[in-house]
Amino acid sequence: MPWISNEKFPGVAYCVGGRSLFWGGWSPQLTPDDLANWPPDTVAYLNSALGYASTAAEIGSAVTTDFIKQTALFNALLSSIRGALPLSGVSEAGEAPLAVVGAAPQSGLFAFDKFSSAPFIMDAVRNDVGTNGPGGDTRRRLFLVPRAQVHRLNCSGNHVVSLDISLAGNRQPLAVAPGCNVILANGTIEATRLALESFGIGSTQFGSPRLGNLMAHLRSNITVKIKRSALGLGAPTELETSALIARGSALGRRFHFQITAADVTGPNPEALMWSMVPDIDLLAGLLANQDPNWVTITFRGIGEMEGQADVNNPDPARSWIDLSPETDQWGMQRAYVNLVPTQNDRNLWQAMDNAAFDLAFALAGKDPANIQYWIAPNGVFVSTRPQPDATGKGFWQDGLGTTHHEAGTLFMGDPGASITDTNGKFHNIDNAYVAGPALFPSLGSANPSLTALSLARKTANTLIGSTHAVPVAGFAPLSLSPSDWQMVKLPNSPANMIHYGSVLETSGWYGLYWYMKETFGNFILSLQWRISRREENSGVYIRIPAPSVASALQAADALGHEIQIDQRGFDSVTGTEGHPLKVTGAIYDLQAPSTSTQVEIGVWNHFVIEANGPRIKVTLNGNLVNDYMSPREQSGYIALQAHDFLSRTQFRNLLIKKLDAAPTV
Ligand SMILES: Cc1cc2nc3c(=O)[nH]c(=O)nc-3n(C[C@H](O)[C@H](O)[C@H](O)COP(=O)(O)OP(=O)(O)OC[C@H]3O[C@@H](n4cnc5c(N)ncnc54)[C@H](O)[C@@H]3O)c2cc1C
Repeated sequence: MPWISNEKFPGVAYCVGGRSLFWGGWSPQLTPDDLANWPPDTVAYLNSALGYASTAAEIGSAVTTDFIKQTALFNALLSSIRGALPLSGVSEAGEAPLAVVGAAPQSGLFAFDKFSSAPFIMDAVRNDVGTNGPGGDTRRRLFLVPRAQVHRLNCSGNHVVSLDISLAGNRQPLAVAPGCNVILANGTIEATRLALESFGIGSTQFGSPRLGNLMAHLRSNITVKIKRSALGLGAPTELETSALIARGSALGRRFHFQITAADVTGPNPEALMWSMVPDIDLLAGLLANQDPNWVTITFRGIGEMEGQADVNNPDPARSWIDLSPETDQWGMQRAYVNLVPTQNDRNLWQAMDNAAFDLAFALAGKDPANIQYWIAPNGVFVSTRPQPDATGKGFWQDGLGTTHHEAGTLFMGDPGASITDTNGKFHNIDNAYVAGPALFPSLGSANPSLTALSLARKTANTLIGSTHAVPVAGFAPLSLSPSDWQMVKLPNSPANMIHYGSVLETSGWYGLYWYMKETFGNFILSLQWRISRREENSGVYIRIPAPSVASALQAADALGHEIQIDQRGFDSVTGTEGHPLKVTGAIYDLQAPSTSTQVEIGVWNHFVIEANGPRIKVTLNGNLVNDYMSPREQSGYIALQAHDFLSRTQFRNLLIKKLDAAPTV
């Protein structure tokens, strides 16, 4: 347990995949009412094809779970519940939205395919190893670092420049490369601790920086036994376990019930639902032990807790997180979590519980002889409905810290009125984002993962999109389809150009990667490139002959032009550095750059290469570095150079504008 609190918490799962290894898979959407106070662009995104619909398809909640749905029990329950509605605020019911693909060959033979992020991560890492592993770790794209813990993020101004971490118990810094973004995806409470510790946010009116708007769900588990005859069911003929959702509202806020039902004799129908039944013998045993007369049903109520989306003055009497004076084994202040229901919360909780009891009674045909109630403290079913105490509390209510639905402290919205923007970026930090329920402005009544995963995709798309240059008028992108390019290699060279989405990366040793779609006469070529080490060598070729000519590589050098990328200005014949005709920005072996062209390693640079008649101008990061009158070819192909094994130069945003007329010089 990394934090301390006024409430009992079971804690976080310190493992790859986090709590997605343990979760129940319930994945309802937030309703329009739930989303009423959310930023409009976020609501539009969630309800678009890219939002809930994509996530539901990815995690499996979009498809019916046959095992749960295709039973007589499911049909009887759904029609009985729908027949009873509207009732005590409950207004709709349907199949449970579970992140499970469960097309089983027979009821009870459960397909073990519930979504978890762990296998996704492992698949992605394996895919990366398969594709890029042969080139060594420097070519890899995705690393999973086990036993890593982040203690704080260090900023220079409003930019995260390094992390303070421990790896396998050893504390060390980790530099954040220029242009790199950091995403806090370590659970609401730990992400909030990092933000309070590192970003200078939170109200300090009570000393330690504090963030409000902490919310969890008001959760109850009301279990009853109902006579099968009251549901119109005979004795079970197959293993019956089922799940449904019912939604409702009271006192201006929402709640829903996860309804699980099974023909078990004990009080836990959900346990059977998630049991693996790997063989026929176990299935036969379970079938033989099914209760022929009763169905056990649990109504797990999930009620919306109210938040306090106030940046500056979180009410101390309500829920919030700050930094405790108590430190952990690393000397870091732990989070202190204050989680308390308001009186409004208590009222909603009671209304939700009443709705569950009323619904259960309705399913029993409103005949007390058809229903028994589980009294958990005594471990017995009884025929009288249990009552809450004078404060509205019942033994069926869970502790607020146990729901695993903590959310809201890093809520998104407008600058000044929230902590993050609608892409999950901290307003006051330009390269730090949040993924997870911490972003929710309000909690609504839906289990959080479907929404959190959808928002994470929005963040990812924004980050990817920000790397794409918006074409300026008159510029068109070069095609990135590999079929529009051709690599010509030196004999036995494994030269290759790897396509990482919209980024091209050189690989192997010598070769030229010809853009085959068309030739260009007069044009302006705009592209970005970056190097991973000073010793890298590459170049942009323009106005070169076709790759089909004899000795095409040599012809490119002799007849065309290479705009050089090499920080050293290396001469391979003498093995010496510092040759102006061979340094970045040189028109290779023709004209040196007019000024220094040293760049930062790992940072994207911008070449604008204008070829107009005999004149070739090279602009690097906004500075004209070469202006050359060429006696060579005035039209031809464009190519990118793969030079040597240690070079992994990347290119992106290749845009070209054709110029009509030859220049007047
Ligand atoms: C039993 C159970 C049932 C649930 N059922 C459902 C359900 O049916 N539907 C639903 O929507 N939700 C459910 N949840 C909740 C859901 O699992 C969580 O809301 C969700 O996993 C939160 O995702 P997260 O990425 O924010 O945090 P987590 O899943 O907790 O992941 C956080 C990760 O960060 C790591 N980490 C934490 N601190 C640090 C640090 N300082 N440095 C480095 N790494 C760190 C952890 O090791 C972990 O891998 C359930 C949870 C549990 C436990």
